[in-house]
Amino acid sequence: METKHKIELLGMDIQALEKYLLSLGEPKFRASQIYTWIYRKQVSSFYEMSDIPKELRARLDESAQISIPRVLKQRVSQDGTRKFLMEMNDKKKVETVVIPQSRDKHTRYSLCISTQVGCPVGCAFCATGQSGFQRNLAAYEMVGQVLGSRRELAKRLKTPDETLITNIVYMGMGEPMLNYEAMVESIRILNDHRGINIGQRHITVSTAGDVKGIERLAGEDLQVTLAISLHASNDELRSQLIPLNRKYPLHELMQAVKYYVDQTHRRVTFEYIMLDDVNIALEDAQALIKLVKPVLANVNLIPYNEVSGLEFRKPSSSAVSRFFGWLKEGGLEVTLREERGADIEAACGQLSARRDRKVR
Ligand code: SAH
Ligand code: SF4
Repeated sequence: METKHKIELLGMDIQALEKYLLSLGEPKFRASQIYTWIYRKQVSSFYEMSDIPKELRARLDESAQISIPRVLKQRVSQDGTRKFLMEMNDKKKVETVVIPQSRDKHTRYSLCISTQVGCPVGCAFCATGQSGFQRNLAAYEMVGQVLGSRRELAKRLKTPDETLITNIVYMGMGEPMLNYEAMVESIRILNDHRGINIGQRHITVSTAGDVKGIERLAGEDLQVTLAISLHASNDELRSQLIPLNRKYPLHELMQAVKYYVDQTHRRVTFEYIMLDDVNIALEDAQALIKLVKPVLANVNLIPYNEVSGLEFRKPSSSAVSRFFGWLKEGGLEVTLREERGADIEAACGQLSARRDRKVR
């Protein structure tokens, strides 16, 4: 295929881009121009780069490419949440979800991005986990989800606004810590103020509890928020729900989280999906309080989003409030996640590589 030998510019930082332009015998400032086109304007065709000489545009087009993924399909929820099915160069597809922060017409958006095609962790309740694992995404494919989403959103909303997306959560398909280097590289690119310029504090990385990854992230000098998918406060249940718990049981996980807080002085978030008849009894609340109280942390309760073919059920709203109340009374900082995009299966854990439905 013709594109095979082309150099991928998406995912390059400014230094790498300068090096590349120098190798073509071009001055450094061309790199800054191209950098702006890619990361500020999400342009993927050299021919649109109007301040680059025509001859150079043609030369670039022969030797390089900018692979912003294409939005193949999209579904729009009644609450404004959009789910994009994005296609990578090798035709692999991932889902990216755009979530409005309010109902206001001029609202900003949070973006939920994928780090892998499928997921090897295989959690019992998760649609992605049930769909198997295909491959890791490269850093440029994570950054590409942001640019592709911003381009699509700008088109749909008819605005050239570069700041539509202000928050990124690594909570789409895949386990970010199992694709560690690419994930961290993508954060650095998203954060660069000359480019996409998303503040580190506006970035959240969610993990199923990969201790090695948490310890590594603690040493990166990043101010991102760490979210840990807890879902159970005893090893027996947690291992049934999240197979990774067999490798990293709760005491090791909690130690790693405390280490992360000590190193970064950042408050972490424990995510806890509420599964009817499974993990929301009074003793679950008591065990959760005991486990989390010594840590600088919020608990984010997520009512389960049902996945067809799986037997887990979402609890009633009274069971949800009761569990919420117990944790509050126990002195935890607790929030309840508002359900978004459930009507289009864009809510957490409903992202599946297999499901390729028609969208409007
Ligand atoms: N692999 C990472 C990040 C992606 S999953 C992790 O597991 O943390 C993002 C979040 O969605 C996790 O907290 C996960 O447990 C949760 N989740 C998965 N399936 C869900 C479902 N069906 N309903 C609600 N939350 C779900
Ligand atoms: Fe993977 Fe997270 Fe789903 Fe578990 S919950 S299977 S770690 S994506």
